[in-house]
Amino acid sequence: MITNKLGVHALVFTGGTGPDDVALAVNQAQTAGYDILELSLHDAKNIDTAAAKSALTDAGLDIVCSRGLAFDADISSDDPAVVAKGADLLHYSLQVTHDLGGTLLTGALYSALGKYGHALTATGRSNVVSVLTELAQEARTKGMTLGLEICNRYETNVINTASEALTLADDIGEDNVLIHLDSYHMNIEEDNFVRPVLLVGDRLGYVHIGENHRGYLGSGHLDFTSFFQALAEINYTGSITFESFSSAIVSPTLSNDLAIWRNLWNDGSALAAHAHGYLCALLKANGNDK
Ligand code: MN
Repeated sequence: MITNKLGVHALVFTGGTGPDDVALAVNQAQTAGYDILELSLHDAKNIDTAAAKSALTDAGLDIVCSRGLAFDADISSDDPAVVAKGADLLHYSLQVTHDLGGTLLTGALYSALGKYGHALTATGRSNVVSVLTELAQEARTKGMTLGLEICNRYETNVINTASEALTLADDIGEDNVLIHLDSYHMNIEEDNFVRPVLLVGDRLGYVHIGENHRGYLGSGHLDFTSFFQALAEINYTGSITFESFSSAIVSPTLSNDLAIWRNLWNDGSALAAHAHGYLCALLKANGNDK
């Protein structure tokens, strides 16, 4: 029997990354029944890693870290200085993840999170491959894995589909680089919720579950039944993390990068508890022990 671990993104609870904010997110994630807290590293310098690690350990929660880059620190750029800044940010983020006790750093590790006004260039793509190859090699020495989160066309020009992500991972050529599917982005770019899962197969390393408008699960039109059937079909045993964003909880930077302009909910802990039940029901319907 499969028992996937379930996670929740910290921005469901708080937009800050200081010790009190992290403690609150840990407490509320645990209360809602989750196994994992996902922390975005967009504001990593503000995180007290020792305090956060001890709060996570006390609560018995695992940590996953995620991030995107920035237009002035972007490994998909043609400008070597901008690429170098992006590479520094990635190596620093890998260390922070390790210090927090995490083994997975994922997200848009290959570009800024935002609308590009042009297609990815050949030079930019080759910069992505070389920086991520080096990062994956460093990650391996720490027993860590990298995730390539596939994002929609309005948030990156590097990889928008599972097929493109697999090609990029092949070009990187390191077996600790896995694919990260997100239902919110899949809804925009993929044919359906089955083909990408079957295509990625055992190279699937992480999953984000978000509605089409990033609000309450079940309040939109996404076909989660098909998605969870496909995950069961490939015997996916990895983690599944709930993501939702509302203008009720604001991060000064990440909310703007993700274009969170609307209020879709007010109470993050009620939302998280609902999502946990919703995900458990989907897993159980597919023979999972959860
Ligand atoms: Mn996501």
